[in-house]
Amino acid sequence: PVVARFCPSPTGNPHVGMARTALFSWAFARHHGGRFVFRIEDTDASRDSQESYDLLVDVMRWLGLDWDEGVEVGGPNGPYRQSERMDVYADVAQRLLDAGLAYKAYDSAEELEERRDAARAAGKPSGYDGLHRDLTPEQQAAYEAEGRKPVIRFKMPEKDWTFDDLVRGPITFGADNVQDFVIVRANGQPLYTLTNPTDDALMGITHVLRGEDILSSTPRQIALYEAFAQIGVGDGSTPRFGHLPYVTGAGNRKLSKRDPESNLLGYREQGFLPEGLLNYLALLGWSLPAVDGVEKDVFSLAEMVEAFEISRVNPNPGRFDLAKCEAINGDHIRLLDVEDVAQRLVPYFQAAGLVHEPVSDEATALLSAAAPLVHERIAKLGEAVDMLRFLFIDDEHFVVDEADAAKNLDESGRATARAARDALTDLESWDTASIEAALRSALIEGLGLKPRLAFGPVRVAVTGSRISPPLFESLELLGRSRTLARLSAAL
Ligand code: GLU
Repeated sequence: PVVARFCPSPTGNPHVGMARTALFSWAFARHHGGRFVFRIEDTDASRDSQESYDLLVDVMRWLGLDWDEGVEVGGPNGPYRQSERMDVYADVAQRLLDAGLAYKAYDSAEELEERRDAARAAGKPSGYDGLHRDLTPEQQAAYEAEGRKPVIRFKMPEKDWTFDDLVRGPITFGADNVQDFVIVRANGQPLYTLTNPTDDALMGITHVLRGEDILSSTPRQIALYEAFAQIGVGDGSTPRFGHLPYVTGAGNRKLSKRDPESNLLGYREQGFLPEGLLNYLALLGWSLPAVDGVEKDVFSLAEMVEAFEISRVNPNPGRFDLAKCEAINGDHIRLLDVEDVAQRLVPYFQAAGLVHEPVSDEATALLSAAAPLVHERIAKLGEAVDMLRFLFIDDEHFVVDEADAAKNLDESGRATARAARDALTDLESWDTASIEAALRSALIEGLGLKPRLAFGPVRVAVTGSRISPPLFESLELLGRSRTLARLSAAL
């Protein structure tokens, strides 16, 4: 059975690269009917934070990438936060030492640097030269007596390392490129190179899908698995690895954590749907197989799971295109039924202070009535807030955009608004069709105006802006008395 995992480090804000990795790993597990493990790699207290941990859990839940085992939900191989597993790593390190597969090295930073420089100058590989590999107990004791604190280094077997990457095919690292590496710092802190494969082994991970930036650590990890097999950590097998391509941003640079479009939380704040964002992230290195020669860009998570063959993952970098991401999100908004859109708008209207807690029946009804006006027009839920603000805002806070007023409510614009008010004052039935008929007859026929000039002043006076949902529907929803009051105020 397949067991895949997502194991981020909780530093800073979650970013889109992480979400892409989580998605691919999750889809792979689900496609194969396997298990998905969510582990947190927080062994570096100087960089990790609880806040970042909370955000990761929150954002995974928001995305809907559910996990069978891991933080918050537990499971048979917990705990799933590495900071709670320090005894496990200490034990594994000790067993590696006892079996002669790792050793204590006492080199000081200056000594290492000196030898590295000398090696470089001689054109030799500049990694660790193995000087402390075979210290005698007496030599060790002498260093200890000097007060030196050793690191623990893994004894890298001298051979080439080849593995068949699930995404990139066979990859070989020559023996010269991988020297003995540190697995435990002098202060006792275990490093990623040890903790990550230890947990993957103990948690029965069969497939490691992760970013290409980690590729160079893979030969070391494979060597550790071979050592684990000798000391009985895990079941003795080595997982398959697949390295996902980089995501690039503008100018084909690798998208960095610091680029604003990396910030995963920003997408939720702007009103991306999880299904829209995941759909777009899926396209960064993968695509749904074409049917009858037609490639489908917009698909559901279920369709992705169904079709997710790792062999379709493209090893070339995927370019993050915000415009395309928004367009796909807009398509997903269109796929929702309008009542669902109305419900999903609630938190955005709350965040803008336009709907209050607890949500009143009136606010719910207004959102349901207003959602059809924006459903076809928005790419992100948050855009509905500005479009519908005029409906939700208290009358005393309603303001007309100054630039729009200057252009549309000059003397002739005000005359138009007055005519509109007069035409609407005694309208028999306050509905979209009657409003439209009355305004057309008063402004286009009566005043002889072109539609743009006729309706612009009304729109600006009543909604506060040139840009708003369809006018007649908007007036119907706003109601007669508020409409008339705003037209009067504009005069
Ligand atoms: N904690 C590592 C990271 O966030 C995990 C890498 C891996 O998936 O092996 O980069």
